[in-house]
Amino acid sequence: MPGRHCAVAVCKNNSIAVRLNNANITFHRFPKAKVSKTARAEWIRRCQRADKFNPDTSQICSIHFCETDYERDLQNELLNLPIKKRLKKDAIPTLYLGLEEKKSNSAIQRNERAALKQRKLEIEQILASNIEACDVVPCDVEFVECSVVNEVDDSNECWKEKYQQLLIDYKELERKYEELQKKHIEEKQDLLVLQKRLRSQNAYYKCKTLNFKTYQPNPFSKIFRQNQMDLILKKYEGIN
Ligand SMILES: [Zn+2]
Repeated sequence: MPGRHCAVAVCKNNSIAVRLNNANITFHRFPKAKVSKTARAEWIRRCQRADKFNPDTSQICSIHFCETDYERDLQNELLNLPIKKRLKKDAIPTLYLGLEEKKSNSAIQRNERAALKQRKLEIEQILASNIEACDVVPCDVEFVECSVVNEVDDSNECWKEKYQQLLIDYKELERKYEELQKKHIEEKQDLLVLQKRLRSQNAYYKCKTLNFKTYQPNPFSKIFRQNQMDLILKKYEGIN
């Protein structure tokens, strides 16, 4: 595909789409090894690429960097001109790398597994204590219910059935939980895309507003010199 592509595995930004959408996104070359070997290695690592790629011909787009990663362009800031985005030598991409997503997903899965394990343990404990109680004293209410079904009562059989039912319910809950989790991940990904889009739109409108503010033509500047203008203004203020 033509145009420059961002080297970050999860990023789809490329220079042509950026230009077409008028998005305020810039592309940055990888640091040279002779400038900073560690920064270069970190850039490569953070791309999270499974395939082999050439850092010398690759670039990373600006959405992965913080404002503080850039050198200040004081000259253009003072002149209210568009700021040149030049990265600091030790800047490292930290945003939208897919790492946060992976981290949070594995954390969610770990918590879920722990919660499921705990629930299973609780159910087993309840069942074990109930079975013990039935062995010692015939259980009253539950026992009556079971005896209606089976005159030759076997309370253990009754508990086994309940246990099986609980296991079925448990599996069903597990399935629903997984479904919800999948949905949650999808929604989170959508949110990330929207946030990205909002960011670039914001930057674009900020830039437009800035340009509009700085453009204030003086209609008299072609007719009068500055000292003449000052005189006229002084007189005008005197009248008022
Ligand atoms: Zn990117």
